[in-house]
Amino acid sequence: MINQILVILFVIAIVWFFFIKKKPTVAQKKAKAAKKRKENIDDEMLECRECGVYVSQEEAILSNGLYYCSDECLKAS
Ligand SMILES: [Zn+2]
Repeated sequence: MINQILVILFVIAIVWFFFIKKKPTVAQKKAKAAKKRKENIDDEMLECRECGVYVSQEEAILSNGLYYCSDECLKAS
């Protein structure tokens, strides 16, 4: 009888463990949010010095410390 109870408790513990594991903890959520915030900062929008169009930092062309949206604007400046 006690063995049966132990087995049932063991099964519940395993189910509980997987249930808890699948649920992201508050710390994990915070880390995710912080990571997302950092990515947003990395993907900062920059204004083209020539035409004023906003481009992401990845797409922007940096020349002499100034950002441009395209080669045309870079040449036009
Ligand atoms: Zn431009």
